[in-house]
Amino acid sequence: MRIFTARVIQLYKEKKAGDLVIGRHGSLRQYSLCAAPGHGTYRIAVKHEDTSRELHQPGTVSSSLHEHVQIGDTLLISAPAGMFTLDTTRTNPVAFIAGGIGLTPLLSMLQTVVKQQPERSAQLVYAVRDHHFHAFAEELQQLAAQNPAISHTIFYENGTEEDIEQKHCDYVGRITEAWLQQHIPADAEVYVCGPRPFMQAMISILLRKGITMENIHYEVFGPALAFSVD
Ligand SMILES: Cc1cc2nc3c(=O)[nH]c(=O)nc-3n(C[C@H](O)[C@H](O)[C@H](O)COP(=O)(O)OP(=O)(O)OC[C@H]3O[C@@H](n4cnc5c(N)ncnc54)[C@H](O)[C@@H]3O)c2cc1C
Repeated sequence: MRIFTARVIQLYKEKKAGDLVIGRHGSLRQYSLCAAPGHGTYRIAVKHEDTSRELHQPGTVSSSLHEHVQIGDTLLISAPAGMFTLDTTRTNPVAFIAGGIGLTPLLSMLQTVVKQQPERSAQLVYAVRDHHFHAFAEELQQLAAQNPAISHTIFYENGTEEDIEQKHCDYVGRITEAWLQQHIPADAEVYVCGPRPFMQAMISILLRKGITMENIHYEVFGPALAFSVD
């Protein structure tokens, strides 16, 4: 993962914050802002879609951003847009459930809770493959340490007992139904982002728990296809 922080040098049109569209070599891709607004900069984190997974060709834009963009370069980006933003008019507990790079929009929402609703109870549940994929570890530790209303729980799918002992993660394995049933408050507003099967599994559990679709918000990092839940 590579993190990019951009200072806006010319703004053409402002929209509601959410996702940026980056154009390079004629290809357009969207990236979620992963810091709360108000810093005078836009921050994104880009996972390199490289050839480490079988049958994959390297991703066009993520490879270009990882391999060719240098500090100080100027990129043409759209104004932020999108509907996957935190509803700060709500005061009920909020839970963010992230899988892999799906952490990015949820991190900016978590920061927004801290800034705008410091009393609101918020929890982040973050599932990653192992410590190599664990993004923003220090930043999350600090956020939770400095804000008593915030908690975060990390699951490493391929973790070890040593990871737990060294406090890299809280659990080894995937987020389970039993865990979510026990730890997500029934009246929570829940935001979910991650790979498609992950979201499908999480949302199915939340619905079984009795949380209604009205209180479940999600974003797909790809074409917005119909989304069925069990
Ligand atoms: C709303 C939204 C928000 C997003 N936010 C983020 C974010 O915050 N961070 C982030 O990293 N990403 C985010 N994404 C995903 C991002 O937009 C890109 O889709 C991602 O970076 C891959 O783009 P790419 O050009 O590198 O890959 P592409 O070139 O589009 O390829 C996509 C995938 O297909 C594989 N592939 C390509 N060609 C072939 C082939 N011939 N055969 C087999 N496999 C192939 C590639 O390996 C890659 O895994 C977001 C997407 C959306 C829609």
